[in-house]
Amino acid sequence: MSIDRRQFLKIAGISALGAGTAAANLIWKNSLEAIQAAPAEEGLTAKKWAMVIDMRKLKTEEDYKKITDACHSIHNVPDFGNPKDEVKWIWTDTYEHAFPGQENEYLPEAIKEKPFPLLCNHCENPPCVRVCPTQATFKRQDGIVMQDEHRCIGCRFCMAACPFGARSFNYRDPRPFIKEKNPEYPTRTKGVVEKCTFCTERLVKGLMPACAEKSNGAIAFGDLKDPNSEVRKLLSANYTIRRKQELGTQPSVFYIIGGSEK
Ligand code: SF4
Ligand code: SF4
Ligand code: SF4
Repeated sequence: MSIDRRQFLKIAGISALGAGTAAANLIWKNSLEAIQAAPAEEGLTAKKWAMVIDMRKLKTEEDYKKITDACHSIHNVPDFGNPKDEVKWIWTDTYEHAFPGQENEYLPEAIKEKPFPLLCNHCENPPCVRVCPTQATFKRQDGIVMQDEHRCIGCRFCMAACPFGARSFNYRDPRPFIKEKNPEYPTRTKGVVEKCTFCTERLVKGLMPACAEKSNGAIAFGDLKDPNSEVRKLLSANYTIRRKQELGTQPSVFYIIGGSEK
């Protein structure tokens, strides 16, 4: 679905009614959100989106870089160049930090040392959504936990509530720190929180998430409720783990750690 602002105002009769600019803007924004929330017919849809990351297929530094760069460049994620201000949608950490409580001293060195790609888990029971006072973060019917930077008041309750460090706060104006701006994706402002959106803007166009597309098959994305989806096939054929399962948030991102490839 694609209409411009002028067409929308005409359809809604707002111009004719002489509605004020502020009211028109508000209705326009809400309508855009409705369009985004309801995937277009030609888009990809699912009852519940999920991701399976096959660590056996991520081998070189270049593999990780391609994934992170793809996400951060198309989503205008700033690079402040220092960890204190860091804004990240997808990043890496060690097994020990990614899966605390699931490590032991006898794990293969290859796993202990391997960087694990981490992102928002689009949890089934997302604590970030429960604490947000403005509904700037909300769960869609297809399981995606969205972030609306326009409604975000920067209280950071969601950051405190997320046990996965999946949310970043813009302590500074991010715009001067975007390496190459993608004009097709909105930029954010100082004082708001942002995170991975499971690439909703790509799904509505029928495209897979950018990280999955650039992963050479290491990242599968699909419908957890469809027994014939690739994610379900991978989950049936391989032993997988999720982050901090004991907390009960029910992450939608699964990891295949080892075993032979199927
Ligand atoms: S990973 Fe964090 S930000 Fe993402 S849905 Fe779960 S609690 Fe919310
Ligand atoms: S920082 Fe924004 S998204 Fe997070 S809880 Fe506050 S208003 Fe909601
Ligand atoms: S799903 Fe999309 S937004 Fe999320 S980490 Fe991958 S590329 Fe980034």
